[in-house]
Amino acid sequence: MTRAIAILGATGSIGKSTLDLVEREPQKFQVEAVTAGTNAAALAGIARRTSARLAVIADEQQLSKLQSMLAGTDCRAAAGADGLIEAATSAEFVIAAIVGCAGLEPTMAAVEAGATVALANKEALVTAGALMTDAAAASGARLLPVDSEHNAIFQCLAGNRMEDVSRIILTASGGPFRASSAETIANATPAQAVAHPNWSMGAKISVDSATLMNKGLELIEASYLFGLPSERLDIVVHPQSVIHSMVEYVDGSVLAQLGSPDMRIPIASALAWPDRMATPAAKLDLASIGSLDFEAPDLQRFPSLRIAREALEAGGAAATVLNAANEVAVESFLAGNIRFPDIAVLVQTALDKAKFDTPRSIGDVLEIDRVTRDRTRAMMKASYA
Ligand code: NAD
Ligand code: MG
Repeated sequence: MTRAIAILGATGSIGKSTLDLVEREPQKFQVEAVTAGTNAAALAGIARRTSARLAVIADEQQLSKLQSMLAGTDCRAAAGADGLIEAATSAEFVIAAIVGCAGLEPTMAAVEAGATVALANKEALVTAGALMTDAAAASGARLLPVDSEHNAIFQCLAGNRMEDVSRIILTASGGPFRASSAETIANATPAQAVAHPNWSMGAKISVDSATLMNKGLELIEASYLFGLPSERLDIVVHPQSVIHSMVEYVDGSVLAQLGSPDMRIPIASALAWPDRMATPAAKLDLASIGSLDFEAPDLQRFPSLRIAREALEAGGAAATVLNAANEVAVESFLAGNIRFPDIAVLVQTALDKAKFDTPRSIGDVLEIDRVTRDRTRAMMKASYA
């Protein structure tokens, strides 16, 4: 049977890994729609290669370029927010791989349409929280986690009952500064921060991995995906990234999912679900790895993880504020405008100043997101101009 799919964020790191798998088994997948932020040439190339029916560029100024590059094909070009929503509702299986809150509306559109959503775009779930899981329950949409930790947990939960779970243990690589001194971390450059030891990823998530905010976002993501409170979600640093996460049951059994650190494994698990498909990922060779190490995360050197857990526990609008302030701060760090430790300071300050009601709609979420971004930019201007 052929699975019709839409790939949101097709030009990114997750998008490319998804395409790599899809193009190896063309008889299994029909690509309905592909989207990108600004790169019309890359998107047109993907649309041509996959015979997609719809290609959507978020940046409306790139539409005419995209149209001319798709001339002579059966692929229609579209642009902007409406185009992204059209792409997100064009197939029953949607890979949500846009980065950041920019992916919220298209991901929600897919969820509201009752699609099966392979979710990589963790920021969309972090910022919308229960609004997204409630929408999925109402429409019958299924969220299949693509984030390697959550995909591991999803696999370890299969065939078990949620009420028998005592604890979920997320593993963290520790990022590029796991063994660095506070002084070294304080002077970290964008190039050092994006050089992840185990995974090759987009720039934003790479910086989040270096601050450990990524693990903080994943804590919140896990809480919503699996319906568990903060006190039943633990984090252990595991530098080899071989165990992708674990589930502990009431009897003391701990189930883990292992594999090479290659995102094509969790992506394939979602793409083929409930079946399995082959991937070109290296098979795990435990004898050559030798030993697996574990340590507790250091919340002194990596305050973002503590801040994210506090936001999860605070509830209300805290996760929305956390995500928005972090996106702006990471962007500024990558642009060379602030220092590495300023990211956590800005996020903490944004949370301390925030006085929002619990968002009741996606409109509320987008408004809190917008106001928090403006405030965070204003704070940076005041402190660093
Ligand atoms: P990336 O930066 O490589 O790709 C992002 C994609 O989103 C690109 O296609 C880009 O064109 C598109 N995009 C960016 N801004 C946009 C906008 N304003 N509107 C519409 N489209 C826009 O990022 P990535 O590393 O592929 O990550 C994608 C998502 O997957 C993130 O939420 C990330 O946290 C999550 N994720 C990534 C990995 C990984 O290994 N890369 C692992 C786990 C989770
Ligand atoms: Mg992850």
